[in-house]
Amino acid sequence: MTFPETNLLTCRACPRLVAFRESVATAKRKQYADWTYWGKPVPGYGDRQATWMIVGLAPAAHGGNRTGRVFTGDKSASFLFKHLFQSGLSNLPDSIERNDGLILRQGYMTAVLKCVPPQDKPQAVELAQCRPYFTRELETLTNVKLILALGRIAFNGVLTYYQTRFPIKKRDFPFQHDGINELPDGKVLVSSYHPSPRNVNTHRLTSEMFLSVLARCKEVIC
Ligand code: SF4
Repeated sequence: MTFPETNLLTCRACPRLVAFRESVATAKRKQYADWTYWGKPVPGYGDRQATWMIVGLAPAAHGGNRTGRVFTGDKSASFLFKHLFQSGLSNLPDSIERNDGLILRQGYMTAVLKCVPPQDKPQAVELAQCRPYFTRELETLTNVKLILALGRIAFNGVLTYYQTRFPIKKRDFPFQHDGINELPDGKVLVSSYHPSPRNVNTHRLTSEMFLSVLARCKEVIC
């Protein structure tokens, strides 16, 4: 299920991102010419009783921004769900579109930024503007024991939230692939390289590496 983010879906607080998400939705990629793109902020998705959550950077231009569900309909999603399925954490081996019946087993996925940024590069002001939505998710999902951050910006986004509530210093939480940190409220923060085509195609992130990260996560949540 998606969160009933009433004001999220109509949010236009970041002019640059609003213009970009809508221009992508209008221009479309040739192979998706018959799609009506979502073209709006993309809410998180999953189980409200989730014990674990995945956090990414933002919806992808022709993935989440097309389908309306985060980590859905692009190569990053396919890589992610191939391995979540192998690890027993999802019921399907791919995430294709909003009505595909995908279930995260006691899990939830979201992004720190709800609109696609040009070249996947958000500005600091945009991340700050969007933070209340991510904060609401973190504070609503009270059963979460583990957060898996995919990429440095997602990792930083989680730490920024904790920095506003606890006297922590980000330098004590260095980002590294397959890193594990205990957060001040007892949750575990695991970090991984993002499963982007760039990282996967260059073998910066391999199946073996990602399965190892998921095995580490399962040790915490199972
Ligand atoms: S990125 Fe967040 S704050 Fe900015 S327009 Fe999208 S939903 Fe609103």
